[in-house]
Amino acid sequence: MRVAIMGAGIGGLALAQGLRKAGVDVAVFERDPSPQYRKQGYRIHISPVGESSLAAVLPGAILQRVVDTATQPGDLVAGFDSQLNEQFSQVFPVAGPSSVTSVDRYAFRRALMTGLDDVLSFGKSFESYVETSDGVEISFADGTSATADVLVGADGVGSRVRAQLLPALGVIDIGVRCIYGKVPLTPAVRDLTPQPFLRGFCFASDNAGLGLAFAPVVFRTPPEEYGDYLMAVMTGTNAVLGYSDDELYTMGAPSLWDLVAERTADWHPSIRALVAAGDVNAAFPISLRTSLTIEPWPPSRVTLLGDAVHPMTPAAGAGANTALWDAAQLTAALTSAKPLPEALTTYQNAMTTNGQAIVTESLHNAERMFNIKVPVP
Ligand SMILES: Cc1cc2nc3c(=O)[nH]c(=O)nc-3n(C[C@H](O)[C@H](O)[C@H](O)COP(=O)(O)OP(=O)(O)OC[C@H]3O[C@@H](n4cnc5c(N)ncnc54)[C@H](O)[C@@H]3O)c2cc1C
Repeated sequence: MRVAIMGAGIGGLALAQGLRKAGVDVAVFERDPSPQYRKQGYRIHISPVGESSLAAVLPGAILQRVVDTATQPGDLVAGFDSQLNEQFSQVFPVAGPSSVTSVDRYAFRRALMTGLDDVLSFGKSFESYVETSDGVEISFADGTSATADVLVGADGVGSRVRAQLLPALGVIDIGVRCIYGKVPLTPAVRDLTPQPFLRGFCFASDNAGLGLAFAPVVFRTPPEEYGDYLMAVMTGTNAVLGYSDDELYTMGAPSLWDLVAERTADWHPSIRALVAAGDVNAAFPISLRTSLTIEPWPPSRVTLLGDAVHPMTPAAGAGANTALWDAAQLTAALTSAKPLPEALTTYQNAMTTNGQAIVTESLHNAERMFNIKVPVP
């Protein structure tokens, strides 16, 4: 069986590793021209579900590389007001040295790419497919094509594979914008950082819809390109941020970071000092989107995983973990002795049930966290 995976994101790479480990012929096609192409760093919390899925699909040496390039585990989730008065906190036991509890997205993807050089093609933007009696013909934007027995859309929230396979599956914009940034953790910055911000995910809010989250990315082994940093993410609606999408998406990194400084000008001095120490070239905007209803569909030679089928807000810290879970389930289905339609029915039923529950939880969390009510069509 030859499996073609569209998208070398977290779920697509995990699936490729799992199938390869089982001896399946696999090819991965990624739209970006290279792994370094986009600003895509941020810290991703890995849950026990994500961790066990990684253990299921990755060969031992690659799992070890993920462990080695993961971030050191934290022990805290806490909320504050804009003057750093604690609103809530929860302390967790510190995970052991072989556990993965959070990763830097770029370093994680690089680790997941290990050993896939001969099957991973960059600069291949999926356009469309045609199912034939004995396979799938895939067309790319550069005019080239490929064939496979099974096509997997792992092409993220804006999935073109989903658009062709399930055109009615709705994805809505929840109206919240994130400005993502980085504060390099130099010795001087460590000294001025409030201690909780070095221990885990901390969310400060003005209680009127504007939030600024911080979380440490302290590597076990850093990537070549950069070192430890504090992830910083400002969240708010366009009205709360005071800028339209046209403005946010064209203003450039330094102006976006100026906006973060401007909107926190009367916040606690330690927060202002961290913003002042931020990397002004690292900022970029993200629009939060979610699916609402995900239902099983009849099996064919084309299926989906991760954000391509159940995009969700980051408010449950579960999108990547669910993509990893999907990858483990799909690996198991495609390497089982079942005929393809039965294997994909099993996968799609389990994946849609699980995905629906997490999408719903994540939307409720987002409504509470961002002080919004999402109008469900
Ligand atoms: C700020 C933020 C914080 C988050 N934090 C967490 C967290 O703590 N924990 C967690 O579990 N999740 C988190 N998430 C969610 C998580 O990042 C996503 O759910 C996860 O990346 C989904 O993985 P995926 O493989 O489905 O898609 P992606 O990782 O988005 O990968 C899709 C890939 O497909 C490629 N692609 C797109 N179109 C095409 C095409 N036409 N042809 C070929 N390739 C294409 C893209 O370039 C990309 O490489 C967070 C998200 C955000 C925005």
